[in-house]
Amino acid sequence: MNSHAGAVARRLERVRAELAELDLEGLLVSRLPNVRYLTGFSGSNAWLLIDATGATLLTDGRYGQQAEEELPRGAGFEFLIAPDGVLGELVVEQAKRQSSGSRFGFEGRHLSFAEWERLRDVSLAVEWVAVSGLVEGVRAVKEEEEIAAIETAARIAATALAETVTLVEPGVREADIASELDYRMRRLGAQRPAFETIIASGARSALPHAATSDRSVREGEFILCDFGAHWRGYCSDMTRTFVVGEAETKQREVYELVLAAQSAARSALRAGVSGAEVDAMARQVFAEADVEERFVHSTGHGLGLEVHEDPRLGRRSEDRLESNMVVTVEPGLYFPGWGGVRIEDALVVTEDGPRALVDLEASELQALPL
Ligand code: ZN
Ligand code: ZN
Repeated sequence: MNSHAGAVARRLERVRAELAELDLEGLLVSRLPNVRYLTGFSGSNAWLLIDATGATLLTDGRYGQQAEEELPRGAGFEFLIAPDGVLGELVVEQAKRQSSGSRFGFEGRHLSFAEWERLRDVSLAVEWVAVSGLVEGVRAVKEEEEIAAIETAARIAATALAETVTLVEPGVREADIASELDYRMRRLGAQRPAFETIIASGARSALPHAATSDRSVREGEFILCDFGAHWRGYCSDMTRTFVVGEAETKQREVYELVLAAQSAARSALRAGVSGAEVDAMARQVFAEADVEERFVHSTGHGLGLEVHEDPRLGRRSEDRLESNMVVTVEPGLYFPGWGGVRIEDALVVTEDGPRALVDLEASELQALPL
């Protein structure tokens, strides 16, 4: 077995151990990032049926060659190609092969109602049990190679930003900055941006999830940049907020509060604490300054094959952090009509604290020279 086959075999073992706990003999995986995690197959249409002895990848005619190339040899996979548009039927056919009385899990949050109805029709042989977050839970704890991939994506993004900010001056459009950043990430090796790059300037920086517009940036304004690179399947995610030219006092004060909240949350990151405890550390800093209602999202999220995955660092998150989880810490403050600041970094959780993936200075509000 090569290392890819070894990784896939270990992941399947971890999933089978979870299935055994739930007294399930198999699992139908219909969520694509989960299929990719468990097989290495990166096509856009696939299901995976895992049973006690093997695993069958089901995809369509466009992906025959790709499946052959990407599925690890020696890891016990079978793959089947469905004729156009009837992948669901093939899944049902496979399910019918299971012996009567088998209990199988399916991903209850990632199966359409129509697909569920078809599966239920074959439930004379198989008892289907909805599971939630099973593969996602396994995915949350990263292997060394996965951490290295996220780290590469994070380095690419940070380097692209450092190159891009030297080009920012009053009059350039948000869209120009986003294009530069995307282009530079690709040139540095990214397959693509991990998500649509957010560049929000002036009062638009108060929109926590702004779409980049064609607005031109002006002197004295905030520019909030939230972006990431996609490298070999893995995502990075980072936010930096700058000022074009001189910052005014209130801009500095808001920035310093966000930085203090971020550093408080980061200091709480270690194996054993809950997502809610980390979130509370950031929120506490804002509460003391009487601005907690201006923090309108959660503190962070896991990062991996998807840009938002488990664990969640939010007010109600019961997720327990474990070593080798990779999470973002991204508090922000948003003042409608005025502007907003967010600072986001990705960190690896360890027994004794966090390790930052890239070391890109955020310690004071960076004023971009005019
Ligand atoms: Zn982000
Ligand atoms: Zn994020």
